Amino acid sequence: MKPEIHPEYHSNAVITCVCGNTIKTGSTREKMEVEICSKCHPFYTGQEKLIDTAGRVEKFKARRAKGEAAPKKEKKVRVKKPAGAAKKTAKK
Ligand SMILES: [Zn+2]
Repeated sequence: MKPEIHPEYHSNAVITCVCGNTIKTGSTREKMEVEICSKCHPFYTGQEKLIDTAGRVEKFKARRAKGEAAPKKEKKVRVKKPAGAAKKTAKK
């Protein structure tokens, strides 16, 4: 290895998950924090659990409830005039 170009290597780096699981590994970073790992991801656990870190599901539900409560506005039907019609009326 060429000296002084490589980052410091931590052979006992720790990855901490929000579920409490810790993984020991080797990395150039000493500590890492993750939101999901193989111990809690539904793919590995086999459970169907909603992962909602940013509150997106709640936001969506709120938006949907709001939309259902409010009566639907009727769309205005636009009648397209032919391009030549507008010019003729302006000249008069
Ligand atoms: Zn986890």
